[in-house]
Amino acid sequence: MKIRKELIDALIDIAKNNHPFEFFALLTGKKDVIEEFLYLPFQGGESFALFSPDLLPIGMRILGTVHSHPSRNPYPSQEDIRTFQSYGKLHIIIHYPYCNKCWKAFNSRGEEVEVVVF
Ligand SMILES: [Zn+2]
Repeated sequence: MKIRKELIDALIDIAKNNHPFEFFALLTGKKDVIEEFLYLPFQGGESFALFSPDLLPIGMRILGTVHSHPSRNPYPSQEDIRTFQSYGKLHIIIHYPYCNKCWKAFNSRGEEVEVVVF
């Protein structure tokens, strides 16, 4: 999987701006390239569950998720892993203090994976 540098930088900015709250977004793109994110209004999990993939432009797919942790813990919780399993195959967690390298990527089982930033 690959992600553009501008995109990961923008996501880190959003995570920082939401501190001390978490934010969630869906990652979308084509094939194995993450091109955009969908920042969903999030209230207690409701809108996440209500999201319809039909709202995506043709050719774009949900490739994964991104969310932030307002702590220094970059690893997914059991609840995170359950969410991962519903939405694509690449899952990014951005963590405090939201530096350029304050993020990790995981597969749907919660195992750390490499992502190419380009
Ligand atoms: Zn989490």
